[in-house]
Amino acid sequence: MKRNLSLLCFLFAFSVKQTDAQEFSSSVQQFISVRSDTLALTHATIVDGTGHPAKTDQTLVIIKGRIASIGKSGNASIPGTARIIDCTGKTIIPGMIMMHEHLFYGESVPPQYLGLEMPVSFPRLYLAGGVTTMRTTGSVEPQTDLNIRDQINSGKMPGPDIDVTGPYIERAALPIPEVLFIKSPEEAAREVNYWINNGCTSFKVYMDIAKADLAEVVKLAHQNNIKVTGHLCSITYREAADIGIDDLEHGFWVSTDFDKTKKENQCNGAAQSASVRSLDEKSAEMKELMAYLIKKNVTLTSTLPVFEPYSGRDVFPGDGGDALTPAIREVIEKNSSAMIGKDSSGTAMFKKEMAWEKQFADMGGKLMAGIDPTGAGRVIPGYADRHIPELLVEAGFSFSQAIKICSLNAAQYLGKDKETGTIEVGKRADLVLINGDPTKDIKAMRNTETVFKNGVGFDSKKLFESVKGKVGLY
Ligand SMILES: [Zn+2]
Repeated sequence: MKRNLSLLCFLFAFSVKQTDAQEFSSSVQQFISVRSDTLALTHATIVDGTGHPAKTDQTLVIIKGRIASIGKSGNASIPGTARIIDCTGKTIIPGMIMMHEHLFYGESVPPQYLGLEMPVSFPRLYLAGGVTTMRTTGSVEPQTDLNIRDQINSGKMPGPDIDVTGPYIERAALPIPEVLFIKSPEEAAREVNYWINNGCTSFKVYMDIAKADLAEVVKLAHQNNIKVTGHLCSITYREAADIGIDDLEHGFWVSTDFDKTKKENQCNGAAQSASVRSLDEKSAEMKELMAYLIKKNVTLTSTLPVFEPYSGRDVFPGDGGDALTPAIREVIEKNSSAMIGKDSSGTAMFKKEMAWEKQFADMGGKLMAGIDPTGAGRVIPGYADRHIPELLVEAGFSFSQAIKICSLNAAQYLGKDKETGTIEVGKRADLVLINGDPTKDIKAMRNTETVFKNGVGFDSKKLFESVKGKVGLY
């Protein structure tokens, strides 16, 4: 017994010693394509995440996972020991920090809607698509999400850093059997305390809650330096801002502030939807709401991919159909071909949502982005993430602004901007190497080649291929 204990202590000491240069299991190593203490990425176009325009012919030196220098290639001094990667014709952006990225796949099986945890395929897909940090923004299996986070951190599985959101805080309005339902503010408090003690680092309230529930969640979370977001319906954006919510999901698409028939603490989805659909794009009321949210320092999360399937476009936003297990893919393709072109109001609403998000940002609002792999089951992690800058550019943002929304803005929200979120000297080398120039041809975003996390390069294609046909299974 004593001997076993000392062996354990030895193993523990050994593993702690290794954290300097992270050790990876063989199941992670198979995806690592670049690993070098000193690394120089030469002749690249860099979009650094600050919102400033791209710089061409740059050389980036990375030492022990951190950015050591950046400069014009002709002037760069490259250490003799460096492994050099010629990035001519390629572009580097910061590792993306995406803010509505569940670890479950949403599948409609009437009369229920299932949240199916995808502990193998999803972390790999996110990383493959350039995501180096993500928030889970509502969990159906918080304990699984926490274990995945820890396994990634300890090098046992590939994936992004994860800000694990607690279980949805929700009363019983939705037919999702995985959701944990509360009945009172006391029960909301019990959940928040329990999951803070178990390691969750953010919370999300859902469509059917009372204002007293939100007040309790915000109070407890803020006491612990934790932020709260919401996909609201029973509470208006203004009410939530007054209570102290930090962030709102799905842009303005789910706001109930314009529903004149709304009753306190009640969600009427049909009335909500009709109210925003009939609102003019240039609505003065909307502008007032935006100004109010900005004054109250409330951040907004754009989730354009989850709405895109209702706008008559591609079946799978940014592609990704190959990742789905064939039986699910078949049903989705059948259903979506029956829908295409049938809902012109969905297309108009999608364009209006884009315009509102741009307006909010132009007025000084803080905008972040995420995919939300739920809805019609057509949003596939990784593929949809690298597609988001395409949508933001379509909404009128410059490429540099779009990248900032997907990096620095989220890093600031998470309080991680000293470590990641931009390509700056001293920060972690969280980077995406793209083959091509998305500043000239936005579709080049889809050519993610290597995703660097802490300076370790992962082969994007290999990660994608490793889970082909697996989404829906695990
Ligand atoms: Zn969601």
